[in-house]
Amino acid sequence: MKIPAIILAAAIGASGTLAYTPDAVIRGDLNGDGSLTSEDVSIMSSYVAGRTAFTAEQFAAADIDGNGRLNVYDLIRLRKNVFSHEGTLPSGTWVARTSSLTRYYTFSGGKCTCTNERTGASSELSCSAAGSTLTIDKETSDILWNSGENFVLRHADGSLENFTYYSSSPIDYAKCLTGNWYAKDGTGSIRCFNIRGVSGSVNGKPFVYKMNGSDFTFIFQDGTVSAAKMTRIDSMHFDMKWDSGRTERFTLRNISVKDGITYVNGILIANKSYSLPQSYDPGKILPEALSAFYTMQADAYKAGCNLWITSGYRSYSYQSSLYNQYAARDGYAKADTYSARPGYSEHQTGLAMDINVAGDSFGYSPESKWLAANCWKYGFIIRYPQGKQDITGYKYEPWHVRYLGKDLAKEVYDSGLSLEEFLCIDSKYKN
Ligand SMILES: [Zn+2]
Repeated sequence: MKIPAIILAAAIGASGTLAYTPDAVIRGDLNGDGSLTSEDVSIMSSYVAGRTAFTAEQFAAADIDGNGRLNVYDLIRLRKNVFSHEGTLPSGTWVARTSSLTRYYTFSGGKCTCTNERTGASSELSCSAAGSTLTIDKETSDILWNSGENFVLRHADGSLENFTYYSSSPIDYAKCLTGNWYAKDGTGSIRCFNIRGVSGSVNGKPFVYKMNGSDFTFIFQDGTVSAAKMTRIDSMHFDMKWDSGRTERFTLRNISVKDGITYVNGILIANKSYSLPQSYDPGKILPEALSAFYTMQADAYKAGCNLWITSGYRSYSYQSSLYNQYAARDGYAKADTYSARPGYSEHQTGLAMDINVAGDSFGYSPESKWLAANCWKYGFIIRYPQGKQDITGYKYEPWHVRYLGKDLAKEVYDSGLSLEEFLCIDSKYKN
């Protein structure tokens, strides 16, 4: 849900020092001419003195402190925003957002250093202020102050760049937590952090964070603030102890693509988001997975359960003919719910197998019960668990196992998560 600018402005006004202002909002422009001038101040003065009424837009624009009331305090702030910044350069570090880009500007004297949040690349630019304009590297823009901690630059092409005060010192980009992380607490619950520079999101919820040595403060878009202490373990891991008492272990999640094959933290992935190329063709179940199956089969037999592989390796072209057959019978939409498109089947990896009967009846057999309880000991997981269709992209398939090796299979089993949740990835066709 997109938070209306005015509510966001209210959250920011109320707490004063919030560093998260995603939208460029110009407050106090009461005559709607796009600039903040003494005319806006006199319109506001007449309203406060009871001489004029406001339209709803004017009311929203005039509520500078965002508390839902218009009074002399808003007038004082508007006067300050209009008059007191005239010709002054910002100082310290500011986070600047356009619709497509986030940058950090550190102003110092007649210079500013501009760092691209995504790449970390910096450049040093000249800057100067005059009247209600700011010139950075020869480009002159209107500067509209909303408060001492927020201003909007309106560039010559009309685009807006929203500046929020961050700190008095430059951002040390090398110390930022840039990357995709999965954070797991003591209960096995996992949250995904996607961080670039000093901003990011957790499970899709945006934040900025400030760091002071090992002390971190996370400021969320809805105005909530959480403090945490970080303990670095190695380049791929750190712990965050939150003020709530909860501790999360952060693990860097690396996605790499080699010869068209996607590996997440080194684990080969084939699902609806990550497909295999036609050229990936191991030709059979990989030997390590097959020998693990034979060990499992022998132990299951001792427990009175008879396991066999009903479908193991499937080539790209075989999956293609299967899928097209199903689609011809049931239509593409229905076929997508139970059959993978060619290139998207885990059976092409040589690491997946269907045990006994690939059908719902298998779920009621003692073999199914044994498999679910024990397969992790041999390095397998039930790949498409019950109730996880929205996450894995497949309905519950008690018969379909994936070989991960013993250590990882145990971890995934203990977590109670699907592989997608465990690795913080999704499984959705792009079209
Ligand atoms: Zn299968």
